[in-house]
Amino acid sequence: MDLGEFLWDLVEHGSLNDHQRQLDSHDLAIDKANVKIRELNSRITALTWTCETLCNLLIEKLGVSEMDLKALIQQQRENSIRSSGTCPECGHRFHESRTACLYCGFAPEPASPQ
Ligand SMILES: [Zn+2]
Repeated sequence: MDLGEFLWDLVEHGSLNDHQRQLDSHDLAIDKANVKIRELNSRITALTWTCETLCNLLIEKLGVSEMDLKALIQQQRENSIRSSGTCPECGHRFHESRTACLYCGFAPEPASPQ
């Protein structure tokens, strides 16, 4: 190996090390994101159980109908869109004049006449 090849190998080796460091850094970021996703999934599961329990309590103890609960939940989602300007499904901006979210397709039911 002549000096030129030796120097070229050094440069190439350094370049490979840089790429390996970048890959390691991306792997670390992916691991952190996966941990966060697992935490969020656990929280969603806990919130789902809580909501189901509360709905069952309302139905069993107070006699609220499932249909009334669904209507109230739908109304709450629509209120959320109006007050926050964000989609209740994906959290992106949701302009009131649109009939569906541009990002996820969520479409609130049109307001029923009172
Ligand atoms: Zn959306």
